[in-house]
Amino acid sequence: MSKPVVVLDPGHGGYDPGAVAHGLEEKTLNLQLALAVAGRLQGVKVLLTRDRDIFVSLADRVALSRRAGAKLFLSLHANAGGGRGFESFIARNAGPRSVEMQKKLHPRVMAALSPWQIIDRGLKQAAFYVLRHNPNPAVLIESLFIDNEREAALWQKEQFINTLADGVTRGIYSSLGLPVEQTGSKKKTPPAAEHKSLYTVQVGAFAYIENARQRLSEARAAGFSDAYIYHKQL
Ligand SMILES: [Zn+2]
Repeated sequence: MSKPVVVLDPGHGGYDPGAVAHGLEEKTLNLQLALAVAGRLQGVKVLLTRDRDIFVSLADRVALSRRAGAKLFLSLHANAGGGRGFESFIARNAGPRSVEMQKKLHPRVMAALSPWQIIDRGLKQAAFYVLRHNPNPAVLIESLFIDNEREAALWQKEQFINTLADGVTRGIYSSLGLPVEQTGSKKKTPPAAEHKSLYTVQVGAFAYIENARQRLSEARAAGFSDAYIYHKQL
């Protein structure tokens, strides 16, 4: 069986920065998230409407979805305009598959974001071009408001982006009916015996042990069975 095609669509790019606030440009965040999600997805064929800072027209984005016969087209955006939180969109007259996929994807992202206390703005419909003209199931997510000081600060945390990317990845698996457990389960290559260095991968630093334990159990659940807590006295 051939792998389902997922088109990831980092919004804006090139001379179109999208929302701009607090020194952030939306186009950069969208791309960062898309690449993080693409790096996590397994068992699907991932296509990106752009993989660098270039302008791609909305029509070209939809054309890629059509050509590729995408099982899911997921457009990634960050919000602005005086609000807070996460929301997802499908087209106003979206078919049942888009409706179903939004229903499965949205709560997975919200679940991943729960440690960050992000407001759920809900499952919405809008006439966005890449949704309206898409021949394939299409969902657009707006992850936080970069003109909100707290949410702009979150977008600058690598840990937050990783959490968001995990949530989006789980959401994609769920929407495709694939097992969600495989999220982040990429096997690390153990260092060969002759290597003289040991590189430790840190996935979080916490002031409270409960939070460290929570992250440890997430890492273990994701397949990193050798994850451990390293305690440093400050
Ligand atoms: Zn946008």
